[in-house]
Amino acid sequence: MTALTNLLDFDPQQLTAYCGELGEKPFRAKQLQRWIHQFGASNFDEMTDLAKSLREKLKTRAHILAPAVISDHTSTDGTRKWLVDVGQGNAVETVFIPEENRGTLCISTQAGCAVNCRFCSTGKQGFNRNLTVAEIIGQLWMAEFELRKSKGIEAGPKGERQITNVVMMGMGEPLLNFEPTVTALKLMLDDNAYGLSRRRVTLSTSGVVPMMDKLSQECAVALAVSLHASNDTLRDGLVPLNKKYPLHELMGACQRYLEFAPRDFVTFEYCMLDGVNDSDQHARELIALVKNVPCKFNLIPFNPFPESGLTRSGNMRIKMFAQILLDAGIVTTVRKTRGDDIDAACGQLAGEVKDRTRVQERMQQMSEYQTKFGPNFGKIVEIKK
Ligand code: SAH
Ligand code: SF4
Repeated sequence: MTALTNLLDFDPQQLTAYCGELGEKPFRAKQLQRWIHQFGASNFDEMTDLAKSLREKLKTRAHILAPAVISDHTSTDGTRKWLVDVGQGNAVETVFIPEENRGTLCISTQAGCAVNCRFCSTGKQGFNRNLTVAEIIGQLWMAEFELRKSKGIEAGPKGERQITNVVMMGMGEPLLNFEPTVTALKLMLDDNAYGLSRRRVTLSTSGVVPMMDKLSQECAVALAVSLHASNDTLRDGLVPLNKKYPLHELMGACQRYLEFAPRDFVTFEYCMLDGVNDSDQHARELIALVKNVPCKFNLIPFNPFPESGLTRSGNMRIKMFAQILLDAGIVTTVRKTRGDDIDAACGQLAGEVKDRTRVQERMQQMSEYQTKFGPNFGKIVEIKK
């Protein structure tokens, strides 16, 4: 028997082609896509406006399968975090941050990360594997409909949308898992799926220059760049990818990206590391570095983890650093614990990164589970809705 096709893996064009192979017209693909991504259906029998014959055909060949949720926690400020199983003992995090006028979901694109930034615990895990389209978009699908379910909101077309913004800022470097990430982005933007505007979807990268250019052509969503340093020597030591794509190339890529971007600025993320990158001199150097790139800065107080050997800059230092950037006319925000500053990305990072420090512990837990419950424990299973 051939394996079932996971319909969460398809972007709009691919779903149309798939329906074509089944002898169906393109509008059927649109209907099917709405059932999946707007109504949260995972059962073909629910899809009442599709012909019974098509539903029967689909049942024998396809399924709608998001990665399984291992744990689901809601903090007192409403932030909700899911640990999601992506097989072979790998798990990634998806984080929802509710704010007054929006709900932002932080999505992971890889299990582990090969870039190995000095201050990042995901990098310290090493690279495990790229997530598939179904695993990336499945985080949004799962979260949107779980959130509605918890609030008693119906899954169908009239159900009030819970996730209004998406940030690709979870685990992994999205531009090093380019094709699946772009396919997932296209679904986020498609009117027959999530219909988010390009301004409400932000991708964060450590600076994979050629892929930034490619993204600007294929799916120019809002861009955040993890800068973290004001000169090449410093950045080489913090973000090893800088040796391949140094700052002048990165700044050039940001300028080129802005020609196609939905927003007229790039967000620079800057992790505040005590005594490493947080002096007045660094701030002044930054101003010179970004002088030709319209930008905003998000200063992220470092979330420490044991083996990093780094500490977080003091609050006063962060404030003074921010003031230098502000005085130069650069909009600058500092991530606060409640994520109430203007860029939703900051809040996400807080919750996400904090939890990330426990990933090793959870991996350990997974392997214990597998010893206890057998090697199949944690295999991707269908989420019951
Ligand atoms: N790989 C991408 C996206 C994921 S990381 C990137 O690097 O941009 C999302 C953000 O969290 C990045 O800006 C990253 O530098 C930051 N980050 C990683 N580890 C952190 C830590 N320990 N404390 C604070 N921010 C951290
Ligand atoms: Fe990878 Fe981003 Fe972490 Fe660097 S900061 S190791 S690019 S996830």
